[in-house]
Amino acid sequence: MSTPDIFNQFFDVHSHIHDHPEHLEVFNMKTKWNCPMGTRPSDWELVHEAAMKNPNRVIPGFGVHPWYAHEVAENDQWKDTLKEYLEKHEKAVLGEIGLDKIATNPVSKERYDLPTQLEIFKYQFSLAASLNRVVSVHCVQAHGYLLEYLRQLKPDQFPPKIMLHSYSGSHEIIKAVLKLPKKVGSRFYFSFSKLVNLRTKKLTDNILMIPKNRILIESDANTLEMVDQVMEDICIALGEIWGCENTEVAEITFKNSLEFFGLEE
Ligand SMILES: [Zn+2]
Repeated sequence: MSTPDIFNQFFDVHSHIHDHPEHLEVFNMKTKWNCPMGTRPSDWELVHEAAMKNPNRVIPGFGVHPWYAHEVAENDQWKDTLKEYLEKHEKAVLGEIGLDKIATNPVSKERYDLPTQLEIFKYQFSLAASLNRVVSVHCVQAHGYLLEYLRQLKPDQFPPKIMLHSYSGSHEIIKAVLKLPKKVGSRFYFSFSKLVNLRTKKLTDNILMIPKNRILIESDANTLEMVDQVMEDICIALGEIWGCENTEVAEITFKNSLEFFGLEE
């Protein structure tokens, strides 16, 4: 099925390809668009460079991931740096941000502190709303906390579009999010990856619950070499679930991505 056309309509909405910056020198993947997500101040410059070198193929993301929330919590300097990077890139995403109830610190072996994650997450979510930037949200076993927070916000406190990346929650959460009042629910998109979602049984049920125009695909890869293969795999999985050709999956998700990022093509 690997026609070159299909890769031309692959929009990888969430990756970490800058984790191996040496591969970025030769930007030789077939997947058309890529969105490397910064996870902490020390990787934002790499994301910025990838976007500068490939302006028609990269949408950068700048944010503090829940695994690094504790690293920035002591000193507010990162907030100014974050705003500076966002200002440099008109279309940049605020991401990756989020909540993670199960990940553990590889050094201390302790779970990352949830109140700190919540504080850093809420700050970034409201910054995205005030700067009118889209967000990419990582949420692992913390969807209850996320929903509780979302339910107390007014419509103008939401970013223009919100992506729940490698979505791993239940269908109750999908229903609740899509039903958020005053059309806020229509701002939510759900993205799926081979690396996270093909391991879970609930993928089919979740996909079928979400309107087709709100589904995105991503690699979540941390090396550029992996991107094409895992994008193709998640595309095939979606085609099986939707009962359609892979080219149609590529077309639909590409169009959804352009809408999500406010791009025209
Ligand atoms: Zn990620």
